[in-house]
Amino acid sequence: MRINEIFGSVDGEVNRWGQGKPTLFIRLQGCNLRCSYCDTKYTWDETQGKEMEIDQILEVVKQSGFGKVTITGGEPLSCEGFPELARRLVQELRMQVSVETNGTYIIPAEVWAQPICWVVDYKLELNTPIVRFMNDIGSWRTAWVKIVIGSYDDFQQAVGVVESLADLSDFSFAFSPLFGKVSEEQLFTWMVENRFNHPIILNKAIVNTQLHKIIFPKGEKNFIFA
Ligand code: SF4
Repeated sequence: MRINEIFGSVDGEVNRWGQGKPTLFIRLQGCNLRCSYCDTKYTWDETQGKEMEIDQILEVVKQSGFGKVTITGGEPLSCEGFPELARRLVQELRMQVSVETNGTYIIPAEVWAQPICWVVDYKLELNTPIVRFMNDIGSWRTAWVKIVIGSYDDFQQAVGVVESLADLSDFSFAFSPLFGKVSEEQLFTWMVENRFNHPIILNKAIVNTQLHKIIFPKGEKNFIFA
């Protein structure tokens, strides 16, 4: 399968294994969307990156010494080898696994059965059909829905998303301020100011601070494996 990079860092995003957890990232090549705020445009061309067999990737993971893996992209579920990779990471290597997805693909049954944490990046600007995705699956395991918010209009739309999905008890929602557009403080203030109009926000959503940008403000990748 096409790999963009494998590196060790901190998982600064929400996930069931803990925000701030030392993590090995496996970034797969290729994505089916073109978000305006994408900071990994270098993954878009699926012919780029390097070809690695799944056995080779598992060997890198074993040698790395990390106990948690986040599979990211690009869009991991657009990659043919993703189901086997995710399943074998859990079953053979007993890794804690998170998957960051844009929510536009149906999760294959092969991985749905595994104790994987799904972090779904909901795209307000594209109106990602996450509800269709969710209904196709029928139910969710532990899942975070992350929504990037760059304006008060985005915030209002995000509130609507939370209210439409909130009856799914396994869902948690993370509001991510768009860097340079909305501060964490502003976003938090909007949440609290709306506590009477939309009480569910205080119960279901958090402000998602991206810890990796605080720990590695220059974006360094000190532990590169492939
Ligand atoms: S889904 Fe993710 S990788 Fe794909 S374009 Fe959007 S932000 Fe970039």
